[in-house]
Amino acid sequence: MLNKILSLTKSLISIPSTRDNKKALNDVLDLALKEVKDFTIERFEKEGFPSALIYPQKTRPKKFKIILNAHLDVVSAKDEQFKPYEKDGKLFGRGAIDMKGAAAVEILVFKELAKRVSYPLALQLVTDEEIGGFCGTKHQIEKGVRADFVIAGEPTDFGVNNKAKGIIWLKIKTKGKAAHGAYPWKGKNALWMAKKILDKIEKKYPVPKKEAWQTTFNLAKIETGNQTFNKVPDEATISFDIRYIPEEFSKKNFEKGKEILIKKLKKLVGNLGEIEIILFEPPQFTDEKNFYLLKLKEEAKKVLKKNIKTIVKHGGSDIRHFNQVGCQGVTFGPIGGDLHGDNEWVDIKSLESYYLVLFNFLRNL
Ligand SMILES: [Zn+2]
Repeated sequence: MLNKILSLTKSLISIPSTRDNKKALNDVLDLALKEVKDFTIERFEKEGFPSALIYPQKTRPKKFKIILNAHLDVVSAKDEQFKPYEKDGKLFGRGAIDMKGAAAVEILVFKELAKRVSYPLALQLVTDEEIGGFCGTKHQIEKGVRADFVIAGEPTDFGVNNKAKGIIWLKIKTKGKAAHGAYPWKGKNALWMAKKILDKIEKKYPVPKKEAWQTTFNLAKIETGNQTFNKVPDEATISFDIRYIPEEFSKKNFEKGKEILIKKLKKLVGNLGEIEIILFEPPQFTDEKNFYLLKLKEEAKKVLKKNIKTIVKHGGSDIRHFNQVGCQGVTFGPIGGDLHGDNEWVDIKSLESYYLVLFNFLRNL
């Protein structure tokens, strides 16, 4: 099996499937679909990003028990990174760990088992995860695709990742009153107002000294239209990249949670400024005691002969789109490193273990 996995992984890596190369995105999907031509293939497309859902039934079941989700797009890379090579038990190349190696395994394990298991199992292949997953996974969900549990083969070094932070891009605008710089008491300085807001935020959400599972505020910009020294600025804008933990609100209802969080932010700013939400992305959250999550850990422990950790991530994955409609899921992938870097690699042996874990998990459900 390892040879099959390796050769499929290498073929997938050889196609430079970056966001701006639509031909390559189609080619990489076509290559993957060749492996599963004996199944029903439902194709989707949004804004030029192709994706597919594969299953053994003639028509799509209302809800799958399990979906194996894989993205075939990669971030940009040097030309030579699209020529995979092996060295010291590692396979190098763009997408080796994020996530063409895991995709190859998911494809092959699906092919082996989908017709043998008694429950509905699907394979979901998308090509836009690296830029948000809106035209792939999210689009398919909008078309009614559902599952009890989804596994995305993102890099986790065999940890089971059940939580990831959500994102808010926030602008806070302050409005003061202009005056001559020599008579500041006659005006109201919008930048000093912004500073008061910053002080409050810094106190409530200090930057952690090291990695921590808490909400963080990255102060990205402080701007004002004022271009001179001798004027009291009458407006200012501060911009934040906020990464919030799902514990900030009830994980079940995202829309309600969003309202609660916006209220919290408004309260924090008070009447010093006005907030504007530029982006509001949900967090990822699946209960640690979820039946399938525990089952996956159990099967992984048997194969890998070590305790499997439940881990958190600071950046999200396509699983968050499923969470929004009440479907559970995790990211779980093999061992590798330097993702998005110049020397991206996947541990070759871990691909075989990954296959075994998924195989046993799916067969023993
Ligand atoms: Zn990825």
